[in-house]
Amino acid sequence: MPAWREKPPFVWHRSPALAYRATNATKIHKNKELLMRTAARLLAILILAAAGSALAQGKHLIDPTPPGSLNPEPLPPLQNPDAPSTPAKDLFARKSTPFPGPSRSIGGYFDGCLAGAVALPISGPSWQVMRLSRNRNWGNPQLVRFIERFAENAKKVGWNGLLVGDMSQPRGGPMLSEHRSHQIGLDADIWFTPMPDHVQSREEREFGSATDVVAPDMLDVDSEVWTHKHTELIRTAAQDPAVIRILVNPAIKKALCREAGADRAWLFKVRPWYGHAEHFHVQIACPPGSAECKPQPPPRPSDGCDHELDFWFKQSTLHPPPSKPKPALTLAGLPPACKQIVKAP
Ligand SMILES: [Zn+2]
Repeated sequence: MPAWREKPPFVWHRSPALAYRATNATKIHKNKELLMRTAARLLAILILAAAGSALAQGKHLIDPTPPGSLNPEPLPPLQNPDAPSTPAKDLFARKSTPFPGPSRSIGGYFDGCLAGAVALPISGPSWQVMRLSRNRNWGNPQLVRFIERFAENAKKVGWNGLLVGDMSQPRGGPMLSEHRSHQIGLDADIWFTPMPDHVQSREEREFGSATDVVAPDMLDVDSEVWTHKHTELIRTAAQDPAVIRILVNPAIKKALCREAGADRAWLFKVRPWYGHAEHFHVQIACPPGSAECKPQPPPRPSDGCDHELDFWFKQSTLHPPPSKPKPALTLAGLPPACKQIVKAP
């Protein structure tokens, strides 16, 4: 298993249904009557077939970008915000403004927070922020500068402009939904859909759907929607010196390996991971001089196009067994400065 620590969220979604199916199949199999056994086997086959097709369709449930809301409800106040057991995500999700002062990315990508965050403007010359109701277009100023720079460079390879998904919350930290990383303002999700030519309305940004570029069998990209411009888009991001890692679906990595051509020096930064079929995840390095920022180990220097890729196309990887969710992070699991940052008004 590769070193990246982001757990696939879809395993979680699927587990109850799979557990239910497995239990039923087992019960039926125990029946001693021959007729019943035959019937049970048939039923088991049907159940497995149904589960298989549910999984094939379930690909679209992997880290999707669900529609937002035009009138997001404020979260209800916490009963016990000061209890040590309160999940940190419940505290950070209730902060709608950044912590003032100089920008600081504190702790690690998976266990940290952010002070002095800046917002990426929701519309720029070559980008637009999606799902504004999530209020996750915040980052270290270095991340905002990267997105502005990347959007310009992407235009030069024929990409009309970026649709920007989640960055970080105003004070970073863990989120109520979707991500385990994105905590210190140095991660951003970019949609595989190019920006339209007009400035989108709030409705379009909340309800528009991202393009899933992976084929239904998950073994390759979907030739109906994948273009060489997608390869050039990812190449452009990977060639930015600030970028240390990009996560894409294994089917996309396979396509990049095929289409990269002679210039392959950037490929090592692009790593396969679960999901990431409708957006890719870009991680930039701890900014120079930020002593509180905990760096991630860089990816291995190999282009990752060899047998390393085989792991991702095994049935057991494409359809992994359910995994137990980890207990939620509390403030005790974050650097001490994060407590002050999330408790400040
Ligand atoms: Zn991401």
